Amino acid sequence: MVHVVEPRHPVSLADYESVAPLSATVRNLRQEAESRLPVLDGRRVVMVNSTSHGGGVAELLPPLLALMRELGVDAQWIVMETHDPAFFRLTKRLHNLIHGIGDPALGRAEHDLYEQVSLENADKIEKFLSPGDVLVVHDPQPMGAGAKLREKLDIAAIWRCHIGLDRATPQTRAAWDFLEGYAEPYDHAVFTAPEYIPTCFAGRASIIHPAIDPLSYKNRNLSVHELVGTLANAALIKPWGPVMTPPFAEPAERLQPGGSWAPATEPEDFGLLFRPIVTQISRWDRLKGFVPLMEGFIALKQDLEARTDLSDEHRHMLQLVRLVLAGPDPTSIDDDPEGKEVLAELCAAYEAMPPQIQSDVAIVSLPMASKKNNALIVNALQRCSDVVVQNSLQEGFGLTVTEPMWKGTALMGSSAVGIRQQIRPGLDGLLVKDAEDAGEIAKTLDTLLRDRSKRVALGRSAQQRVYDQFLVFTQVQRWLELLTNTIS
Ligand code: UDP
Repeated sequence: MVHVVEPRHPVSLADYESVAPLSATVRNLRQEAESRLPVLDGRRVVMVNSTSHGGGVAELLPPLLALMRELGVDAQWIVMETHDPAFFRLTKRLHNLIHGIGDPALGRAEHDLYEQVSLENADKIEKFLSPGDVLVVHDPQPMGAGAKLREKLDIAAIWRCHIGLDRATPQTRAAWDFLEGYAEPYDHAVFTAPEYIPTCFAGRASIIHPAIDPLSYKNRNLSVHELVGTLANAALIKPWGPVMTPPFAEPAERLQPGGSWAPATEPEDFGLLFRPIVTQISRWDRLKGFVPLMEGFIALKQDLEARTDLSDEHRHMLQLVRLVLAGPDPTSIDDDPEGKEVLAELCAAYEAMPPQIQSDVAIVSLPMASKKNNALIVNALQRCSDVVVQNSLQEGFGLTVTEPMWKGTALMGSSAVGIRQQIRPGLDGLLVKDAEDAGEIAKTLDTLLRDRSKRVALGRSAQQRVYDQFLVFTQVQRWLELLTNTIS
């Protein structure tokens, strides 16, 4: 199914302008748009991706499109939802191969499937296009359809790739060989880092960093009542009286010992957030490194009694701290077929851990029925975490890193290329060299947890870095440049 999605974005440029540090940035953006619009000359910009919810791209598009519209660009969002599990298994495989993971043997059957679904989708998307449009296609799922349309119609086409690896491996070569023919018709491509540009796009690629919207439900400041209300509505804490936020009545579910899922009911479960917490929030994807993070946390907690290097305060912190691993309710996401499988692996690792540590780990499935509610829960969890972790084995660029950086929360990241672009180690957060080394994870968490002033200093620097580089305004400005350069 292909359908137009209204980029719902409740914030206008005037709202940003009323926030003191953002007003100058928005003024500059307005000026940039005024000089670029005559070049665009009324052409429509049509963005296509494969889901309207879940994951970084669906997160990026609404503010990007809404701001472009407000600046005078005729921008549309089309979602190509193919309910063909075999196709999404294949595109997930391509996604993993571009990250250097998986079986590189792609044969006739895979080519035929990709070609056939791309043709079908091109047909469906065609009716939304007019001559002169600029088509912007995100990631491998709709790439083939975009290529077909560029060949057939009088339009310009740009491919936006949100993933990548900084070196060539048999896996990346297999993925790019597979996609090469579809890369050909595009006028230009956009990557997140220069290291990710494959040879098939050499000489016609630009870099744009993904960015966040500082006033979205995911990122805006929360007053105490909003924070408490959000966590209470999600059954992550239990208030004594009624809460003052809308009653979403969508509790988060926790993995219970024995493998079932249920919202918290016991007083002890509600105490989760009344202790220091280390949190990772991501899609349930092996590349996000949930299992090794849990192993690192076990290593941190084990043998605390035997450690002689701890002050009373430090020991107390390590005894209290809990790990929260959260992600979207996997039944709600169509384009990520591995989610359930990966969550099951994590649950099995949880079942196998020492029982005394098990009670310090919460695996949480976040409700997805209301996007706003989900965003508020993620926001609240990132704000009330002592440390946010992104232990990705590979990461093109983690919005789950930018978001807590903006909130001033201390971060521990892996050394995946995308994360290295975001966090300057020792300045904006700490990085582990090997995301699968439980000992190193434990040691780095220990360094952060023992020193509150270090966490505060890292958080401050991180926030400034996001302000300077990774807010939506910079992204819109880069897109305006690129769109006008592509068509002129
Ligand atoms: N996210 C969310 N709810 C969840 C888990 C993740 O809203 O339960 C969001 C997260 O806050 C971030 C996006 O999904 O905005 C993930 O983007 P990222 O670039 O970190 O990773 P991707 O999923 O694109 O690999």
